[in-house]
Amino acid sequence: MDFVLAYGDDATTFPFEQWLRSEQKALKAEQFELHDGWLHHPQGLYSVRKTIAGLLSITRGVKCYPEQIVLGAGTQFLVQTLVHILPQNSTFAVEDPGYQRIYQMLKSQHADVKTISLDDKGLSIDEINWKNPNILYITPSHQFPTGIVMPASRRIQLLNWAGHAENRYILEDDYDSEFKYQCDTIPSLQSMDSFDKVIYLGTFSKSLLPGLRVSYMVLPQHLLRKFRETHAFLLQTCNVLTQLTLQHFIDSGEYQKHIKRMKTDL
Ligand SMILES: *Cc1c(COP(=O)(O)O)cnc(C)c1O
Repeated sequence: MDFVLAYGDDATTFPFEQWLRSEQKALKAEQFELHDGWLHHPQGLYSVRKTIAGLLSITRGVKCYPEQIVLGAGTQFLVQTLVHILPQNSTFAVEDPGYQRIYQMLKSQHADVKTISLDDKGLSIDEINWKNPNILYITPSHQFPTGIVMPASRRIQLLNWAGHAENRYILEDDYDSEFKYQCDTIPSLQSMDSFDKVIYLGTFSKSLLPGLRVSYMVLPQHLLRKFRETHAFLLQTCNVLTQLTLQHFIDSGEYQKHIKRMKTDL
């Protein structure tokens, strides 16, 4: 089961009719946006980020302003951007076993990367202390690929760890957040974080289609400032029509209906 949703294997569950209707509406209503190529915000269209912020607050308790959201064509691309705005000379740690594509991405950026093994609650605290990274990349809601759901106690330990030094951060990859495994009462790390140390990463690749390439991150305010100082030149990588279609799809309630259908199919 853990791997079934690893990359949207089941295209038959995708609501093509409803998606097409949203695309038609987007094309009709937003022609100005579609023409306005060079003025698009580097973080993605504001209206789309506003819709995503609303969705995240309801489904994951993520607290953020639309201003803090950065869209991007894939989690790898967003993590690549993060490597450049997080403290220089950082040591990253990824889960072992874990998501290869991020490990390889970090390596390709010449980042110092350690692997940290899991115990029954997720990332091992002892090993963090011993290997001494300052940035953790983790999948707490549904560890990839073991499926471990990190209990609240370990989440609090990790947040406290992050709060202990200025250069520490946690990248929370909530890639299949819409699907609750085992229990659905544990909130996202971002929603429990009082130190502004968690960067929340999400995607529509699992809940909709991987081919859409719409993923996003939520930056704490001080990293947002850094992003804007150093990356304001960057053009947004997500297709504008796809962004607008997604906005219509969510705002019309079709997204939540689709999630409900997928959950009953599980
Ligand atoms: C599918 C998946 C993602 C999402 O990747 P995108 O590049 O955003 O499509 C992220 N993390 C894990 C662990 C995944 O399995």
